[in-house]
Amino acid sequence: MNFCSACGKPVSQKIPPGDNRLRFVCGSCQVIHYHNPKIVAGCIPQWEDQILLCRRAIEPKSGLWTFPAGFMEIGESAEQAALRETVEEARADVVLTTLHSVLSLPRIGQVYIVFAGKMLSKRFEAGIESLEVQLFRLSDIPWDQIAFTVVSEALQHYVEDVARGSFTLHVASVPDQIVS
Ligand code: ZN
Repeated sequence: MNFCSACGKPVSQKIPPGDNRLRFVCGSCQVIHYHNPKIVAGCIPQWEDQILLCRRAIEPKSGLWTFPAGFMEIGESAEQAALRETVEEARADVVLTTLHSVLSLPRIGQVYIVFAGKMLSKRFEAGIESLEVQLFRLSDIPWDQIAFTVVSEALQHYVEDVARGSFTLHVASVPDQIVS
């Protein structure tokens, strides 16, 4: 960050009084600009013994597979964001059945909130951010073509849950690369 988004004057990094981290502070209006983690909300949509995955049409990791997920918008809840992303990326209507995993990516300042969902019909198609959308049996998940470590982590846990016959909340930290 170079300039204050409040007044347009230059900012510099300093530790504000009572704080213990470097922040961007405006030298003119003194506003402190906090940079905090972003939340990505996602859904693993299920239809019978299959799950719905999308092949990304956008960078990063274009051409690789993920479940529907994306950054939350101001004004929506995590559930609404997960449902919106599922419609936008896979044109699928789901009901969220459980909170499945909360995965932190401390290195890049993101937190994934992933729900499990049931598709209300077998209808789906590629949204604008997807090259294609496809149902996969759990034994056919394309593990070597998954877009992000965090997506693999959630899917692996999902497969274990289904094998065991119950879902448990999975909370973990994951090293990962950039996500859009
Ligand atoms: Zn300012």
